[in-house]
Amino acid sequence: MKRVQLYDTTLRDGCQGEEVSLTVDAKLAIAERLDGFGVHYIEGGWPGSNPRDAAFFAPAMKLGLKHAKIVAFGSTRRANVKPSEDENLAMVLRAGAPAACIVGKTWDLHVREALRISEAANLEILADSIAYLRRRLDEVILDAEHFFDGFAANPEFTLACLKAAAEGGATLICLCDTRGGSMPADIDRGVRAARAAVPIPLGIHCHNDGELAVANSIAGVQAGCVQIQGTINGIGERCGNANLVSIIPNLQLKLGYQCVKPVQLKSLSELSRFVDELVNREPAKQQPFVGSSAFAHKAGLHASAVQKSAAMYEHIDPALIGNHQRVLVSDQAGRSNLIFKAKELGIDPVALEPKLKGLLQELKQLEHQGFQFEGADASFELLLQKTINGAKLRHFELIGFRVIDEKRHEDEASIAEATVIVKGPDGTVEHTAAQGNGPVNALDTALRKALVKFYPSIEEVRLHDYKVRVLEATEGTKAVVRVLIESGDASDHWTTVGVSHNVVEASWQALVDAIDFKLYKDRKRHRKDRPAVATSVVA
Ligand SMILES: [Zn+2]
Repeated sequence: MKRVQLYDTTLRDGCQGEEVSLTVDAKLAIAERLDGFGVHYIEGGWPGSNPRDAAFFAPAMKLGLKHAKIVAFGSTRRANVKPSEDENLAMVLRAGAPAACIVGKTWDLHVREALRISEAANLEILADSIAYLRRRLDEVILDAEHFFDGFAANPEFTLACLKAAAEGGATLICLCDTRGGSMPADIDRGVRAARAAVPIPLGIHCHNDGELAVANSIAGVQAGCVQIQGTINGIGERCGNANLVSIIPNLQLKLGYQCVKPVQLKSLSELSRFVDELVNREPAKQQPFVGSSAFAHKAGLHASAVQKSAAMYEHIDPALIGNHQRVLVSDQAGRSNLIFKAKELGIDPVALEPKLKGLLQELKQLEHQGFQFEGADASFELLLQKTINGAKLRHFELIGFRVIDEKRHEDEASIAEATVIVKGPDGTVEHTAAQGNGPVNALDTALRKALVKFYPSIEEVRLHDYKVRVLEATEGTKAVVRVLIESGDASDHWTTVGVSHNVVEASWQALVDAIDFKLYKDRKRHRKDRPAVATSVVA
């Protein structure tokens, strides 16, 4: 089995990404996850660049990681300073990590224009900075900055830089495509030349400016690199770093390399979502391998084929990386999509079978009006129930609602107030009013207040997300809007949909579905727990 070391730099290079900012606690939590996942090296930060990075190392060394080695990042010494007097190198050592990775110049252009020193002086800086650290640390990695661009411009000098680092005692040289613009063939050529020039192990560090960071990293490994540097979800400066979440399954499932154990690979999707959560980034649906759309099938033909044999439309078994197949409901849906979906929701497909034709027609009609059930599983499940039972599931009857949005002065925020009158299951009429920070919020509060007397579990429901999409943009304020509401309680999350010319009406529909779904779900669970109890109206 061919092996590759994973070197994660989410906590250092990843944090260079715009809008990415992690607290020390969040960085520690990510480090623990990465360790559990089986990453070999975790670059914790650049202690010389900011206090937050420096503050990571002391607690990180106490985490008691089982597998991963913590690495401190830094740079070679400044020109005209002895290594022992250089503050950068001192900071790297002060971090207390067992390994260091230092960035050094290998492109003659940078030596000339940025450092303004001779080529010979740069070789000396590389060799003595590394030698100084190596006497004090187990491992010292050189990040060969701009290696591939340097190699294209002046291969003799670039390879001389690698030799100087090797002579200084570097334990590994990581070849960097710092500008992120190289092609896979350039990577292959550069890595092979580096292998011929130095006898020590090589790594690859790519950026994604040409959207080739994953391909380039894999090309690097195939040309002989034994270490891959990258970040979770590819976060990082500009267009990001090489995405380990794509590189790992490609190497492991397609090319026969071992990066992590198969059982660890199963937590890849979870790791990806965890990091997104901590950097406060919406997970990308279309992210290869781990995205929620990665194994989602919409067209009827595909959906029926994947049920016979998933391999016909899926490049890997999603379970291997902790993802799963989804079949989407839409007006393109055929009978097989609906049956699959019903099974997924625990609804007896045999009961649905005779009503499928009518359901397909109704779905087409609803989607034509602007409903969309792909993101609204709960509304869809209620629709299935209605189809099977022949009538909509009802927990209360609306007698009427009124929403007032009032602005009393141009400098004051407007006030929203809603009144709701409903008839409960026992025939009692409930009349409530509530204020809110907007008309929908006021309506939601008033409705719950009215219903909680009949259904106390409504108290547990929280509104997590509220989205409005304008469907016919050309009509301006007359347009149809679709509202999606995501609700949750202690055990579940569910999404419901409403469509209307009126945003309050569309929100009302989605709110009512959200509450109906909660009550339906509670009753379903209740039945499951106590199968002896007689079935209720929803059966
Ligand atoms: Zn980088």
